[in-house]
Amino acid sequence: TAFVDIHDVTHIYAGSEDGQPAVEGMTIKVREGEFTAIVGPSGCGKSTVMKLATGLQFPAKGTIIVDGKQVTAPVKLAGMAFQNPVMLPWRTTLKNLLLPLEIVQPHRGRLRSHRKEYEARAEALLAQVGLAGQGSKFPWQLSGGMQQRASLCRALIHEPKLLMLDEPFGALDAFTREELWGIIRDLHAAQRFTVILVTHDLREAVFLADRVFCMSARPGRIIAEREIDLPRPRD
Ligand code: ADP
Ligand code: ADP
Repeated sequence: TAFVDIHDVTHIYAGSEDGQPAVEGMTIKVREGEFTAIVGPSGCGKSTVMKLATGLQFPAKGTIIVDGKQVTAPVKLAGMAFQNPVMLPWRTTLKNLLLPLEIVQPHRGRLRSHRKEYEARAEALLAQVGLAGQGSKFPWQLSGGMQQRASLCRALIHEPKLLMLDEPFGALDAFTREELWGIIRDLHAAQRFTVILVTHDLREAVFLADRVFCMSARPGRIIAEREIDLPRPRD
């Protein structure tokens, strides 16, 4: 059984100018622990799939099941990272990392009594992405690439079973991007969370993912699905 099961989903935004669906007849099944990518041209509906799978939008037609449950509300077991790392400027990087814990149970209830434990986890994650000792800095004291790494840590702080990545590498220079690719592969190899990455970069999708779904231009449909079984630099 699939961990993320998107079945025959069509979504039309209420605010759509032409009334056309953003995604149409979309079926995607992702197994637990799998690293998948969805690729397609800009505007084809990739972010919409992301919003549907995490319960930020609800489809006009079709069903979405995550971890055995139909999605009827924002999916809090998911960690999310976006193209823009959106850190709160008046909070240190460490305190930005702790934010999801203030929202998601059971962490929310435990945060006060286990603060040191959670801070240690945040520091350990920062060290894994090459940001050891940077937690006390404010986000605006970090480079864009460093903030993007920190936002990956924030997405992982509550040990999500599902990591949703929406073009998180798109705004980075090529060097930083490839470094982060290695880091995210290492984190996935160690923790085996399920990943759905959306990207317009086919090379990135093929390098990172074990399975790639290709979408057509709007209205977005899945037009191909490929297992990636190539020797890659990471192997
Ligand atoms: P992608 O992530 O592949 O660039 P999106 O999922 O963001 O594509 O958008 C798919 C289509 O839906 C686009 O045509 C976009 O203009 C439209 N769209 C996205 N968000 C909204 C919204 N909130 N209201 C109306 N239309 C939207
Ligand atoms: P949009 O107008 O962007 O298409 P919707 O009309 O799908 O958004 O949803 C508007 C709001 O209604 C959502 O933010 C959500 O709070 C609520 N909602 C819609 N469908 C569901 C559902 N199946 N379960 C729970 N809440 C829903």
